[in-house]
Amino acid sequence: MLEKIVIANRGEIALRILRACHALGIKTVAVHSTVDRNLKHVAMADESVCIGPAPSAESYLNIPAIIAAAELTDAQGIHPGYGFLSENADFAERVEKSGFVFIGPTPDVIRMMGDKVEAIRAMKEAGVPCVPGSDGPLPDDPNEIIAHARNIGYPVIIKAAGGGGGRGMRVVHNEGSLINAVAATRQEAKAAFGNDMVYMEKFLENPRHVEIQVLADGQGNAIHLGERDCSMQRRHQKVVEEAPAPGITPELREKIGRICTEACIRIGYRGAGTFEFLYQDGQFYFIEMNTRIQVEHPVTEMITGVDLVREQLRIASGEKLSLRQEDIRITGHAIECRINAEDPVSFLPSPGLIKHFHAPGGPGVRVDSHIYEGYRVPPNYDSMIGKLIVHGADRAQAIARMRVALSEMVVDGIKTNVPLQQRIMADIGFQQGGTNIHYLEKRLAERKEKAIGLG
Ligand code: ADP
Repeated sequence: MLEKIVIANRGEIALRILRACHALGIKTVAVHSTVDRNLKHVAMADESVCIGPAPSAESYLNIPAIIAAAELTDAQGIHPGYGFLSENADFAERVEKSGFVFIGPTPDVIRMMGDKVEAIRAMKEAGVPCVPGSDGPLPDDPNEIIAHARNIGYPVIIKAAGGGGGRGMRVVHNEGSLINAVAATRQEAKAAFGNDMVYMEKFLENPRHVEIQVLADGQGNAIHLGERDCSMQRRHQKVVEEAPAPGITPELREKIGRICTEACIRIGYRGAGTFEFLYQDGQFYFIEMNTRIQVEHPVTEMITGVDLVREQLRIASGEKLSLRQEDIRITGHAIECRINAEDPVSFLPSPGLIKHFHAPGGPGVRVDSHIYEGYRVPPNYDSMIGKLIVHGADRAQAIARMRVALSEMVVDGIKTNVPLQQRIMADIGFQQGGTNIHYLEKRLAERKEKAIGLG
């Protein structure tokens, strides 16, 4: 087993990784920016190293500084968490070349999945169902582009091969706007991702976002841990996640889960990973694979009892999977609400000093958060300040527990999206379950119209 690792991240996920390490007896090194000296996990880590100033480009994305911290502290491995360098193949490669263990897949697999055109090609070959599309990058010839769109049928979506974080996508409803849309997406993609390759997919009009969690040891063994529904989104960003997904039968779960584990073995996948699908009319359509731990991993942990970060650390230590598919049992229902430091109506970030904080508790309640009374949320990073996760015997009990937990949560001094989460939990459509990826934005727009007297 690894003896000491560097946690190359911040906030709640850094704390989550630290907890898993300490439970396994692994020593931890926190690396942090100058404004993050007061992070909870920095105080709890065995050692800490300041790696640069507040801007992520100079700290959490500073590859030489992170590797130097591992050298300085004599650590053996580096856990990248999510975001930042977690899906950067060059980083993974440099970590390994410097003689450290990268806690994640091999650089080659990260690189393949980071290019969505390549990822879709590999997945198709492995028998994973994909969205009907251009099957490769769009050519320059406008006539060929038009032919692709006619073949697929409108509406279509133009997506950047190197895209991520919900950026670099454009929906096209008719031929008249197609060529301009392709050119604009190319330009955006070039500026944002340094790669102007784009591809085309059928735009599904009312899909749900359903994803499959996998674990693979890179030694020929892979299992899946069921699915999560992350359809409650705003601007392609997840707001609420749950597991299992409403309406997915055990047979369907087994079928799609098996397809994913077989694909993992085929591509030599190692570590924890997520196959993201759009789900519409009973069909799964692969959109991308995330080669890291996800924000929403706790809902899977709550229904399976498996500690996913512990498994990442075991796999990175060279151990074989200790769990077999038949060991995975799904019990009850779990829901996660992301808690953001933001205005619940305007969604503008709300950094600042937390004057009072009371965390909810009780049966089935889990709080993954780094905040505490007197902590100042810096303006430099993502606005997520924690996650509230509940587990219940069934979905109705999970919702009831979440409503109580949200009502107990007190974060004073800054604004949070707790009121928005309360409205979602009280929403009839959410309570019925199975709403699609456009539902939340539609409800928010209706509310706005009402507020300004249109409704
Ligand atoms: P990113 O890597 O930027 O998150 P994804 O490919 O995962 O991009 O897509 C993000 C979101 O965009 C999806 O969850 C979904 O809401 C929407 N989306 C992507 N592809 C399609 C599609 N073919 N049809 C409809 N919506 C889509």
